[in-house]
Amino acid sequence: MKVASVLIPLPVPEAFDYEVPEGLNLTRGDQVAAPLGPRLVRGVVAEVFETTGSNRRLKAVDARLDDPPLPPRVVDFVEWAARWTLSPPGEMAATALKGLRAPRPRPERRVRRVERRQPLRATPARLAVLEALGAQTLTPADLARAAAVSSGVIKGLVDEGVLETVEITAEAAFDAPDPDHAPATLNSDQAAAAEALSQGVADGGFKPFLLDGVTGSGKTEAYLEAIARVLRAEPTAQILILLPEIALTQALIERIAARFGAAPAEWHSGVAPPRRRQVWEAVSAGRCNIVVGARSALFLPFVNLRLVIVDEEHDTSFKQEEGLVYHGRDLAVARARIEGAAVVLASATPSLETLWNAQQGRYAWLKLGARHGVAVMPDIALLDLRQNPPGPQTWLSQPLREAIGETLIRKEQVLLFLNRRGYAPVVLCRACGHRLTAPDTDSWLVEHRYTGRLVCHLTGFSMPRPKLCPSCGAEDSLVSVGPGVERVEEEVRQLFPEARTAVFSSDTVPDGKSARALIQRMTDGEIDILVATQAAAKGHNFPGLTLVGVVDADLGLRGGDLRAAERTYQLLAQATGRAGRADKPGRALLQTWTPEHPVLMALAAGDRDAFVEAEMAEREAASLPPYGRLAAIILSSENAQAVEKLSNDLAQAIPNAERLEVYGPADAPLALVRGRRRKRLLVRADRDVNIQAFLRAWLSRVKVPGSVRLTVDVDPYSFL
Ligand code: ADP
Repeated sequence: MKVASVLIPLPVPEAFDYEVPEGLNLTRGDQVAAPLGPRLVRGVVAEVFETTGSNRRLKAVDARLDDPPLPPRVVDFVEWAARWTLSPPGEMAATALKGLRAPRPRPERRVRRVERRQPLRATPARLAVLEALGAQTLTPADLARAAAVSSGVIKGLVDEGVLETVEITAEAAFDAPDPDHAPATLNSDQAAAAEALSQGVADGGFKPFLLDGVTGSGKTEAYLEAIARVLRAEPTAQILILLPEIALTQALIERIAARFGAAPAEWHSGVAPPRRRQVWEAVSAGRCNIVVGARSALFLPFVNLRLVIVDEEHDTSFKQEEGLVYHGRDLAVARARIEGAAVVLASATPSLETLWNAQQGRYAWLKLGARHGVAVMPDIALLDLRQNPPGPQTWLSQPLREAIGETLIRKEQVLLFLNRRGYAPVVLCRACGHRLTAPDTDSWLVEHRYTGRLVCHLTGFSMPRPKLCPSCGAEDSLVSVGPGVERVEEEVRQLFPEARTAVFSSDTVPDGKSARALIQRMTDGEIDILVATQAAAKGHNFPGLTLVGVVDADLGLRGGDLRAAERTYQLLAQATGRAGRADKPGRALLQTWTPEHPVLMALAAGDRDAFVEAEMAEREAASLPPYGRLAAIILSSENAQAVEKLSNDLAQAIPNAERLEVYGPADAPLALVRGRRRKRLLVRADRDVNIQAFLRAWLSRVKVPGSVRLTVDVDPYSFL
């Protein structure tokens, strides 16, 4: 008997076995309908094998579906990713099929000529229509425009049977990129990098690279040239470029369109589902060469993937925390390995993991020296707030205020960076000291003045700012503590009433369109002072920006999680790197209460190596990543006792293992979210320990009740 293992989208760790009916020819990657209880579900064939007699009665596959199969290497990737992240392989496979499940674009009504039918009355307008149409099939609107007639003329011709209407579902056309459309002249570092990358692709096989160069050194230009060379050598090659944020895609798409004379495909959650379906189908049919996308583009069914680029590879937005928990950068490397392709991790501030791999020689290390052209790195200085404390209820010190004033006089632009949304991060009662928190979540409510509400940034809960303290009932006793971007903008408006100011945060630019509009205004010099969270600190190129002020450089350092120092360094290097990217020199001023902090000293000295060396030494001493491995188990439930019981069961069931420790169970720092109690366990292991095997063995020993959600997070980035 022939049996097919089928990946079904259910939260179970294995594929399901089905009998293959006589005459049905199935192979790995085929999509099938298979019975599950009373229903038929869509699944992907993982394996087909022969078996002689079994004592289990297997249900039979119902049918093979007409939809395109997943390329076998995508199935390899899905299975590998599921094993690595301890996720259900069927759900991973469903992720890979998501684009295909989207609705098709609505068919378009068009008209075309009916052979040998002539109009009864050949008016000039009618002749113009027939002339403009020729042998084409056009929409009535396009035809009316081309012939400069009213739509009534076309309708008349249709009624008379001279033209006929047809419904067409257009296949998305992706014009082939032209490698020679508008090449740049590269400097020698860029040329060497492009050569190494394209040679890596030409040699074939898995080749990982780190493309390392300061912001503005021309990394993008270098990898675009590598893409051109790859396409010249192999016009069917497919290339995937991953970006950490949707907001960054538009600028890159425009650059690619300008460089290659054809726009790439775009793939992320902001793309309309019918369009996503077209992209999925075009990628799977090899009709599309370049895809620019967010991390979920890793699951697209490329048939000839030759090069994967992960831009801003250090960005923690590549980590997906909800649903399937995975790190886009790590999975990009895995996908390239499985495809036998090259992968480039590009950054001005690479993650310690990636630097470690480069130091070990696992990744080829391509370095770009200075900024391209005349642009130079900004001058970075620390402003010691102990010597220049801002006045009460203000946040900008005197030296920073003066620098802003000077910049405005020169008609140049200022970016004030503060990675905090809203007006004030905390609201408290002056009478009783109570801090306002969300009712069902352990987090402080953030005051937003634009909307007049207090918001929980974790769950989205919000309420109007109350008149009375909810704890002691005192009147007018609530005070806003600390600044968010809205409050800094308020101060800026008071200090520089003439300046054109704007706030850039996920509240003021909730979608891609408004983000693009604001970025455009800043690029065009229509904004003098932009107060921004990290949403604007990444990737953008503002030619008139010459001063970056960091309002609170200590902010990220207080968090104290594993990557607090690394993240702060990266974020501030990115933010300060926005200054002086064109012909005018830039400078950055960092306000701090701890100017002696090693992270800030390294930033001011522009000495990334010193920072990396010190941080690596700390990680090594503690055997933490990249010198060790981590995994977290998070339990949550509305039923506190059920969480308690499962965490005790887990603690009892820890398998024996060497060079590995389990910490916890402990209450999570966010012990209550949306009314759910949360507990965490953390596993640390040496690098050579198979932490996934340990977790699988461990979890197989306990029964997880339906009321508790158990999430495994391999290589956690959040410790909340
Ligand atoms: P990065 O990706 O390292 O931040 P970019 O590739 O975006 O750097 O380059 C920074 C700026 O310099 C861009 O405006 C880019 O167009 C320009 N640039 C980089 N390399 C070249 C080149 N070889 N010729 C012309 N302009 C370049």
